[in-house]
Amino acid sequence: MMEPRQQQRPQDFDKVLSSMCTEPHPLAQEVAVECLAMNPGDPATYQTVAELETEAITRLGEVAGIADPYGYIASGGTEANIQAIHAARNRASGEHLSGQPNVVAPESVHFSVNKAAEMLGVDLRVVPVDSDYRADLDAVRAAVDTDTVAVIGVAGSTEYGRVDPIPALTDIAHDGGAHMHVDASWGGFVLPFTDYAWSFADAPIDSMAIDPHKFGRAPIPAGGLLARNQATVDALAVETPYLETTSQATLTGTRSGAGVAGTVAVMEELWRAGYHQQYHTQMNNATFLAEQLTNRGIKVATPTLPLVTAAVQSTTIEALQAKGWRLARTTGGDLRIVCMPHVSRASLEAFLDDLDYVRS
Ligand code: PLP
Repeated sequence: MMEPRQQQRPQDFDKVLSSMCTEPHPLAQEVAVECLAMNPGDPATYQTVAELETEAITRLGEVAGIADPYGYIASGGTEANIQAIHAARNRASGEHLSGQPNVVAPESVHFSVNKAAEMLGVDLRVVPVDSDYRADLDAVRAAVDTDTVAVIGVAGSTEYGRVDPIPALTDIAHDGGAHMHVDASWGGFVLPFTDYAWSFADAPIDSMAIDPHKFGRAPIPAGGLLARNQATVDALAVETPYLETTSQATLTGTRSGAGVAGTVAVMEELWRAGYHQQYHTQMNNATFLAEQLTNRGIKVATPTLPLVTAAVQSTTIEALQAKGWRLARTTGGDLRIVCMPHVSRASLEAFLDDLDYVRS
């Protein structure tokens, strides 16, 4: 067999502490390769993968706590967020709107929502977070008006791994006649194992972004858009004259059969004991790292999900990056480490050794 060229070799994950993606589960990888040529965007032609997609959505509904979910496997959290806002805007137009439609979201919201607002002609009203980086309910309430088409809450925020008060946000959205969307793109596969007492079942949210290609360990691209009602998906549908099916609700046309099949394979394998174990391992790693940083006199935001942020000087971060560590920072400049499934205790210990070295 021919040796792969250097740039074709997969990158080593040992020093990757910045990513919200991870190594796919070996089973998911195997199945994904077999399904590379299957296109769920053309479901009447590619019926096997279409059936797998239905199964993937049902399984994602189980994770999120909804018995009869609608939706599809998207390219990622970005597409799922765009489409949720797209659906909310389409459903509201012609109803209660008197001016430009708006979406209300906490400042912790992922930048994909800025993309959505710009593309969809929606005014994005960003409101402050509280001292624990969670949506400030009074600020959200004050920002919602008759032109609000959606309120967004984040369940596992990108920068601090925080979970917004989803049930209270849902009440505010619904009182204002707006759609409630939860961005659980990163946190979706973690939340079922935490103490947060909400899900689709007890907080009647309208849609959710939940990405198998993050904590779910599916191959990229596999994002999830879940909706409580068929009407949300219908609001996205366009006619598809040349396909065997008559309409399509997705943003992209041709989609990844590998992502769909990989999602089903890994969920069949890991839900729920495997994901539970994964959560515990990474939450323990996050707690360990937070303690170790605190012991070194570094100010740390106590992790609530497996994500640690700490006030580390930028020169230190740069020195660590030069030693090969892949590290991210928050908008405010804090070091941000995501304990994804590939992050081992040994890797964190090696990181701490290097941290001590560059600070000495
Ligand atoms: N939403 C959240 C909370 C995220 O953390 C991310 C990415 O990290 C996204 C959305 C975007 O997801 P993707 O990069 O898969 O489009």
